[in-house]
Amino acid sequence: MGLAAISCKTPVFSKAEKALINEGSAETAFRILQVTDKQDAVLLRTPCTGLNRFADDPTLGRLVARMTTTLLTGNGVGIAAPQVGISRNIFLFMRLDLPGEPIVTAINPRIVNHPDTTICFERDGCLSIPHFQGNSIRYPWVEVEYYNEKGELIRERLEGYSRHDTFTSIIFQHEYDHLQGILFTDKLCEE
Ligand SMILES: [Zn+2]
Repeated sequence: MGLAAISCKTPVFSKAEKALINEGSAETAFRILQVTDKQDAVLLRTPCTGLNRFADDPTLGRLVARMTTTLLTGNGVGIAAPQVGISRNIFLFMRLDLPGEPIVTAINPRIVNHPDTTICFERDGCLSIPHFQGNSIRYPWVEVEYYNEKGELIRERLEGYSRHDTFTSIIFQHEYDHLQGILFTDKLCEE
């Protein structure tokens, strides 16, 4: 009883997170943390925590809008909240496999199934790692679960793992790793 009352009042974001998110308008890009900066690197390596009771939270709306602006400004195909200084389980990924290539928000995402085999994805790159591309070990497909901004649970299988075709499944895996403090440079294929 007491616990329920407390959790209802628990804010989605901390004061410090709210301050950072509301520092700019929806059209204001965040500064993207860089692994070459010592303080940034610590945050990029910190595992994130989940979001609770986030549906229709205005701060979440602002975060997603600003992350979208940041992604488009940086010409990326995915961005995770820790890359903009918010250590929470949320990222955006571009659906290269869908018409119009929409940017989709994934909250509290999980990889629930994948094949035993891996492939070597060509020229992985990251907005937080300047001037470096490398081939990374990835699954060719993943079955995933995540919540959208409305709080609806989505479960789907993501395919595509080639630069020559689409690589939606790779984007999801790359962004999901960010939430665990893992960077693609940890997963380079042996040449
Ligand atoms: Zn990245």
